[in-house]
Amino acid sequence: MKYSHISPFLKEIVSDRYAFFWEVPEGKFNLCRNTAARLQVYAPGAHLEKMDETSPFIVCKTTGKRYYAPLRKNPALHRTFCSVMDDSGILKFASTYGLLGFTRSHDIRSRDRRLRTKLLIESAQRWQYELSEMKRLMYLWDILKNRRYSLLAALMVREEDGIYIILNKRRDLIAAVDSDLERRWDQLGERPEEAALLYLTNCINAKIRGGIYPRVLPTYKKRVYLFPDNLLTAMWLMFLWEVIGEVRPYLCPGCNNWFDPRRSTRKTCSDRCRKRVSRRKGKLKRSS
Ligand SMILES: [Zn+2]
Repeated sequence: MKYSHISPFLKEIVSDRYAFFWEVPEGKFNLCRNTAARLQVYAPGAHLEKMDETSPFIVCKTTGKRYYAPLRKNPALHRTFCSVMDDSGILKFASTYGLLGFTRSHDIRSRDRRLRTKLLIESAQRWQYELSEMKRLMYLWDILKNRRYSLLAALMVREEDGIYIILNKRRDLIAAVDSDLERRWDQLGERPEEAALLYLTNCINAKIRGGIYPRVLPTYKKRVYLFPDNLLTAMWLMFLWEVIGEVRPYLCPGCNNWFDPRRSTRKTCSDRCRKRVSRRKGKLKRSS
């Protein structure tokens, strides 16, 4: 991944009608139970909730930051996010791709009162919540994508007041009585794939709602660009791109990271991984 220590040039953060860059704090990330009492909200656009003040916290004492452009450089990052399994995975993801955007901060002043370091804090509970939300929908999307329609049908329940989906112990209404979908089910038979896609896109749309803002970049082309307000929203947008087929994530056999091949003939994320895989194949051949 390409990082820069100065804000990237505008042309490097723009992809189609979207523009986005994100910062990765430099420093060691730790999990911590108690933190300094008074903390400011770090990003002005962040909507913090109660869970953002709940311990344990991911804490980074930072002396610098670097930048990258996730939408442009890592359009399959939502897949990498969904493969995070535990706290150490969270810390690794945060130190590589940055915090999600529910960050609070605290300035640490040195004795001579010159500002040196910043404490950045984000609740691990927030991470676990967002991970479970995205994984739940990713599970549904994988079933849909792999056309496992009988499994899909097993997740749906038709009840008196509408069609429900039960996913990860949560029961949600997909279509109420007398809705278009419900009427089509009566006329044409049950169509779980249509219901699943409706539910999936409605859920992701709701995640993105209010989180992407139109802005004009005064020193760059006269166009209106859409800016996700944090990394989490950007990853939900990538998820939506995958659902409409704009991004086709592929697991690189060289480094086990998700990437978007763009060209269907590409099987690895980089030249380095291509060489690594062919070296491994050579070894296997020699040893057999
Ligand atoms: Zn790779």
